[in-house]
Amino acid sequence: MRLFKKTKIVATISDKNCSIEFLKSLYEEGMDVVRLNTAHQTTEEALKVINNVRKVSSQIAILVDTKGPEIRTNAMEKAMNVAVGDIIKIKGEPGKDCTKEMICVSYKNFVQDIELNTKILIDDGILELTVIEKTKDYLSCRVENSGKIEGHKSINIPSAFIKLPSLSKKDIDFIEFAAEQNLDFIAHSFVRSAADVIAVQSILDACSSDIKIISKIENAEGVKNIDEILDISYGIMVARGDLAIEISSEKLPVVQRTLIEKAIEKRKPVIVATQMLHSMIQNPRPTRAEVNDIANALFEGTDAVMLSGETAYGKFPIESVKMMTKIIWEVESSLPDFRDTKILKLTTDVSAYLVKAAIEASSELDVKVIIADTLSGSTVRELAAYRSKNLVFAQCYDKNVARELALSFGVYAQYILPKAHHQEFINDAIKTLLTENQAHENDLIVIVAGSLGYSTGTTFIEIGEISKLLKDRD
Ligand code: PGA
Ligand code: MN
Repeated sequence: MRLFKKTKIVATISDKNCSIEFLKSLYEEGMDVVRLNTAHQTTEEALKVINNVRKVSSQIAILVDTKGPEIRTNAMEKAMNVAVGDIIKIKGEPGKDCTKEMICVSYKNFVQDIELNTKILIDDGILELTVIEKTKDYLSCRVENSGKIEGHKSINIPSAFIKLPSLSKKDIDFIEFAAEQNLDFIAHSFVRSAADVIAVQSILDACSSDIKIISKIENAEGVKNIDEILDISYGIMVARGDLAIEISSEKLPVVQRTLIEKAIEKRKPVIVATQMLHSMIQNPRPTRAEVNDIANALFEGTDAVMLSGETAYGKFPIESVKMMTKIIWEVESSLPDFRDTKILKLTTDVSAYLVKAAIEASSELDVKVIIADTLSGSTVRELAAYRSKNLVFAQCYDKNVARELALSFGVYAQYILPKAHHQEFINDAIKTLLTENQAHENDLIVIVAGSLGYSTGTTFIEIGEISKLLKDRD
């Protein structure tokens, strides 16, 4: 039987390692969402992963990660070693290969956008350069630490405002492909402002797609504009790979905590990503720092934690998911009954009040599960925002919504047909809980639901012992 931990796991899967058997093992060990990193995939390759994921379970949500406005070095025949003090030339020319004499990068206006004395970081910040001369055609840069320059490596310029369009042609193709395949999430890279989210949304709208947008926060602008970004995104990812380089790593802990807090406040799912178990790409066991890093993300209240290279190409992918699940179980058992509600300000929304009452009652009364029905998922995300110790068992009238909730803390969802009377869905939900061993006859449960038909929203909470609730209704 599947384990019902509360924090969700997103695992990056490559088409080079995506057999049904492999995906099934990851799912059984606790993977909830599959991430496709399109920076390294074609749509045909992605389709191979998608088809196999679908064969394992219809419950697994699929997230497509775009390239976004990123800059990379172009192809280079042979890696070039550089030493401190070396001077190298760089220019922006998409499609042109790098040579020892001229490093070419994928962004046309690279030279125009960058000022003298700017720091340029290559390959996830491993190599640092300083611009010492700027001509019309190229930048001359001094190498600040020895290393090597290779093709297709990332370039970060923390202090510059890069005017790259939010979406490349490849991104647009992938978003349309995701819409055709009815996937669940687009995680858009380097979101800088609401405009970048709107750019993705308008493509989805043109495809009449319901796919939800996760904004990847990975530079200073994204952090600065987090409020407007959160308002129009379904959720966010703390994309620490680039973020740590762009804002400098010592700023990461506080920024991570702030981003998680803001997402919870707005009842939006949040994923903490990158290097969570990085050493397990090579080793069967994590470092102490990695274990503590995962725990810290949980203490801060994240909905999900993510694996990248660990599951995409690492030596120990199944062990990585297994390790993450073990840490999650251990840490969750020490969390409070539910989060301090001060940051969850209430509006005049009826369902928000009912949810708050349900959460408080379930804590006071030693409840085992909260059952909720939902059309759009909003009542359930409201419940999830409290990070309750009780599982939320969502009854969804929409198949896509049921899968989207795979990203929400503590939520397990099933798709149901609209019922003639709400008592029917309550009976069904209880029976599923009993057969799945998630509750027993004498357990107390809380129900948050609508009594006026499935599309009119939440109107009541009900609390009772399972045996009684079942008996009264039979
Ligand atoms: P990436 O995004 O792996 O696509 O770069 C995540 C991150 O930057 O942390
Ligand atoms: Mn990134």
